[in-house]
Parts: sequence; structure tokens; C-alpha cells
Amino acid sequence: MTDHFDRPEDWRPSQRYPDPSVISLDPRFDRYRLPLAGVERLATGCRWCEGPVWFGDGRYLLWSDIPNNRIMRWDAVTGQASPYRQPSNFANGQTRDRQGRLITCEHGGRRVTRTEYDGTITVLADSYEGKRLNSPNDVIVKSDGSIWFTDPPFGISGNYEGYRAAPELGQNVYRLDPESGALTVVADDILGPNGLAFSPDENLLYIVESRGEPTRKILAYDVAADGITLANKRVLIDAGAGTPDGFRVDVDGNLWCGWGMGSAELDGVMIFAPDGVAIGRIALPERCANLCFGGRANSRLFMAASHSIYALYVNVAGVTGG
Ligand code: MG
Repeated sequence: MTDHFDRPEDWRPSQRYPDPSVISLDPRFDRYRLPLAGVERLATGCRWCEGPVWFGDGRYLLWSDIPNNRIMRWDAVTGQASPYRQPSNFANGQTRDRQGRLITCEHGGRRVTRTEYDGTITVLADSYEGKRLNSPNDVIVKSDGSIWFTDPPFGISGNYEGYRAAPELGQNVYRLDPESGALTVVADDILGPNGLAFSPDENLLYIVESRGEPTRKILAYDVAADGITLANKRVLIDAGAGTPDGFRVDVDGNLWCGWGMGSAELDGVMIFAPDGVAIGRIALPERCANLCFGGRANSRLFMAASHSIYALYVNVAGVTGG
């Protein structure tokens, strides 16, 4: 591989087009590469970046810096990064609902919240059947307004990314009903449920199994006609040596997955076609936990990678609600 990302501390963006960090593994990826776009580093100095979410109306990106107990904001107008919310209750995964409001998973609060237009915070879920949630990790919003999130115990396993505590519940995936606010368990047998996303038509739900044995996986489910019930669980992607965490889906149904960890051959983003075949890769000098689409045409990829935020314009848009 080229020398500009052999050592993370020495990384610099490629000055040459096409950027050698953007790699086709299958001809199906070629249409998504922009020959005159390269990977940029927008911000650094964080401890563990997660939960990126784009606000086109304000032209800014928010993301979680979990161990620093803050949500950061990168302003696309000034190019500057600054704290948005601190403390953040060790916020992790984030998205926006169909009304544009920020939805946040909190390890510290062990809850999912909504930030209202006036800045006040509404708790959407913090318990199930009288027991506290573990540490909500990642969240998406379906077109019907329902909020789906994963609840592994990662954020209460120690004091680095939350507050150590014993789990009261299993590692469930929940659906929050937009009308009643009631929680339903939609999956209870995933080993470390983590990132999740719907296919563009919402007929499939993908969930990362981040404690899968012997390898981590991305699972696929059929969503029944009721829009709630999951069926036909199967492995779409076996991650092998890789570590998937969070991901997003584009309008063509491809999965853009944060990937790691710790070696130059793995760190960055892996892109999989809907059939589960790896078609492309974005090499980063740091493990990427999560990403989102944003920018004017929802076709700029923002990648939350360990200490830093990277960005790359691509030739496809992300789906709404991821
Ligand atoms: Mg996650």
C-alpha cells in the first residue's frame, strides 16, 4: 500500500488523484468512486469517535467522543470543531428522526433521548419491564417514525465509556412505537448487537453481531408485513478478522461499514453489495467505528475513526433514517 498511511501519526491526505485510499474490490464499486475526490481529515484529538450525524440545515456534523463524555460539532462553514454537549452522559450512536430531531443513545444515562427544537432533552426509553436498559449503542428511525436501537452491555462493562454496572436485561434489540412510546423486543439472541440499518425499501433489517463466535457478523432479517416482526435470521456478511461496529446503507442498497481493527489492512471502511460481497474499501489510518452520509446531496461520507473524523465525497447518496 502507499506510504501516506503506513503510520497513523504520519498520515496525510493523498495529493494525487485518484486517491489510492479508495479501493475497488469489485467492478460494481467503480461507479461510486469519484476520481477527483480524496479522503480528508476534518478533526482529530478525540479518544473514541462514534455516532456521526449530519445536520444539513445547519451545515454541521455532530459525533460522540465517548470516553471524553462529550458530543462534538464540526462546522462545515468554518471548518472548526468544538464541543456541542458536555457532559453527554457518554453518548454513543445517534441519528435524526423524521422530524429532524437528534436521537441519542447514552451509555451513562442508560437511555435513548430526543433533543427537542428548543434544546431540551426528552427521555424516550430507559427501562424495559421495570428493569434498566444496559447501554443503548446505536439507533435508527424507520419511515413510520418507529425508533430501533441495540442494547448491549458494552457501556456498563467498565468506567471508561460509562459507569460500571451489572446488566439487568439481556442483549436485546428494541423497537420504540412512535404513537404509544412502548418498547418491544424485536431480537433477543444476538451476541453483542451493535450497528443496525434497514435496506432502502425497509424490507430487510441488518444488525451487526459484534461478539459473534468465532467471527463477527452482519446479520440480515426479513421485516414482516406488519413492519415490526423480524424473521428468517441469516448471516449476510462474515467479518472474518474484521471488526464491524456501525454502518449505513446507500440508495442502491450497499452497506458502508466502519471496520477495524489495528492493522492497515483492516482499518477504514468496507463496502458490501446487497448480496454480501465486498466491493470496495476506504483505507484509513485508524479503526473506523461508524459513519454517516451527509452534505448537500447526502453523498459525502463522514467517518468516525478512533481519534479523528474523516470525510470523502462519493457518487451515491445514503438513505434517509440511518
Ligand atoms: Mg456501535
